[in-house]
Amino acid sequence: MTFDLILRNARVIDPGQGLDEVHDVAFTGGKVAAIGKSLPGEAREAKDLTGYILTPGLIDLHTHVYWGGTSLGIDAEDFARTTAVTTAVDTGSAGPGNYPGFRKHVIEPSAVRILAYLHVSFAGIYGFSKRIMVGESHDPRLLAAREAVEVAHSDPKNIIGIKVRIGRHASGPTGIDPLVVALQVADETALPVMCHIDEPPPSYEAVVDMLRPGDVLTHCYRPFPNSPLTGDGEVKPALLAARERGVYFDIGHGMGSFSWKTARGMMDKGFPPDVISSDVHALCIDGPAYDQVTTMSKFMPLGMSLYDIVRASTEIPARALRRPGLGSLKPGTEGDASILSVRQGDFALEDVLGEVVKVKERLFAEGCIIDGKWFHQSEGLQS
Ligand SMILES: [Zn+2]
Repeated sequence: MTFDLILRNARVIDPGQGLDEVHDVAFTGGKVAAIGKSLPGEAREAKDLTGYILTPGLIDLHTHVYWGGTSLGIDAEDFARTTAVTTAVDTGSAGPGNYPGFRKHVIEPSAVRILAYLHVSFAGIYGFSKRIMVGESHDPRLLAAREAVEVAHSDPKNIIGIKVRIGRHASGPTGIDPLVVALQVADETALPVMCHIDEPPPSYEAVVDMLRPGDVLTHCYRPFPNSPLTGDGEVKPALLAARERGVYFDIGHGMGSFSWKTARGMMDKGFPPDVISSDVHALCIDGPAYDQVTTMSKFMPLGMSLYDIVRASTEIPARALRRPGLGSLKPGTEGDASILSVRQGDFALEDVLGEVVKVKERLFAEGCIIDGKWFHQSEGLQS
């Protein structure tokens, strides 16, 4: 058989198939066609990836890519070039009042796959910039349950869940009430919720207690206040109960939500994140979050294996999205793949409080395949 593209001799890490070994992966007609050792067959294009890591297309479960339509948006295609993300999940940049523009002007023209959690607040995250910061959940008049249901039903291909932001900054005077509305929309549409948590009130426990199996709590490793740990370093019991019933815990690094202290405490207590995501937006893309491979690299000195780090950006987020065609290199799935390298050197990784951890190795993005075609190759790969 003749494949469109074959990538040979990469270290393939595909936790969805329990795989971490040197394999070839072939693509045809936009899908993964075959995977195995020394695959027989011809290909229109073949590339030797000896020394590189090949993973299912990375999913960044928390991004803001409504570029131009919201002040916090970044360009998804530029982002994919620097970080090998093939699926950028936008979390609530748009609400029902401005989602059609996001779909028409950003999602549909994009080569990078974009999926969306639709915000329950009418205009999404509309007031987020360096000098203007207005929480979109402050005013209950903006909580748009009926409109969110209509818009979610209008685009099941791209809308995979409902977003809401809760905390002193995002919801302020309305407290936890916007989550009540988001959960009703989620129930009515049979979609999961992704809930953001910032400073109290309300408490981390009050928020996580309301989440259902399949819902996502983002910013799970945030610093005090509303840290997931108690003052004496124990994981708060509400988190253990939530994990037990199937709530996903997502990093959502951003500019305020990843602290080394919290991360060390949580990893020491055996509570790794389910999903690693960057929460990249206009105010954190130049640090401290930067991108998805930098966020993933922060889990290497925390003792998480590369296999589990890749799992937290492929298999598990695909499950949270309910998209079995993503996050895997099984034949027949979407033809998305990411090429990474681990490089040695002197690197500094900062958290949102300014603590810097010096490391001797980290991940780099080398390229990605989307729909079975090259989307980007680093200079090293082209030579
Ligand atoms: Zn965010």
